[in-house]
Amino acid sequence: MVNRSLKNIPFRPQNTFLAICFLTYWDKHLLHIPFKETVAGSNPSGGTRVKSTTTTCVRTNRWSQICYSIFMNLQFKGYFFILYSSPITRFLGRIVSLGDNAMAITFWPFIIIRPDLKTNPVLDELIRHETIHIRQQLELLLIGSWILYGFEYFYALYIKKLDKRQAYYYTALEQEAHRNAMNPNYLNERKPYAVLWYLFNKKHLSRTAIGDLIEQDFS
Ligand SMILES: [Zn+2]
Repeated sequence: MVNRSLKNIPFRPQNTFLAICFLTYWDKHLLHIPFKETVAGSNPSGGTRVKSTTTTCVRTNRWSQICYSIFMNLQFKGYFFILYSSPITRFLGRIVSLGDNAMAITFWPFIIIRPDLKTNPVLDELIRHETIHIRQQLELLLIGSWILYGFEYFYALYIKKLDKRQAYYYTALEQEAHRNAMNPNYLNERKPYAVLWYLFNKKHLSRTAIGDLIEQDFS
């Protein structure tokens, strides 16, 4: 029942309404701040070039563009948001050492996805993968998921001597997300704390050139 009511419900009309309210306020109160602009001109009486000062109204600036872009690319999904933004994906991808080619990243309450993937056939699978992370993060109260990830990642790197890519795949959080993202019913069937099973049931994961998952037993 809980799963059904919390199913991914697109909330776009409400977001658009919020965006309009916010932008109306923003435009009226924040963007109509006059500023002095110095323009080079000529002095008709003396004939020498002087600088005249005019007062201008800015209607758009960098921050309004950023806010506009965030509001228009935000979707509310019941217990988390999906935000399509490439600079934020890139920025966070670098922080967690996924590099510039990170496709999506999840920090509850946000799933941040590169906007160019909106029309990509992998989008459903990608959102399912990240929604699994949202559930894990909520169950482990955020901090628990970072501790678990860090602990398993470094264990894989230094004790199991795996490379960085394999260490990432080795963590229970990624094992659960990668091995179930193809199953469209997984989020409905999933039991709470399902991630704990993957602490002791690891598979060697890799991807083919076209992105299909290969699962193999650890030798
Ligand atoms: Zn993941």
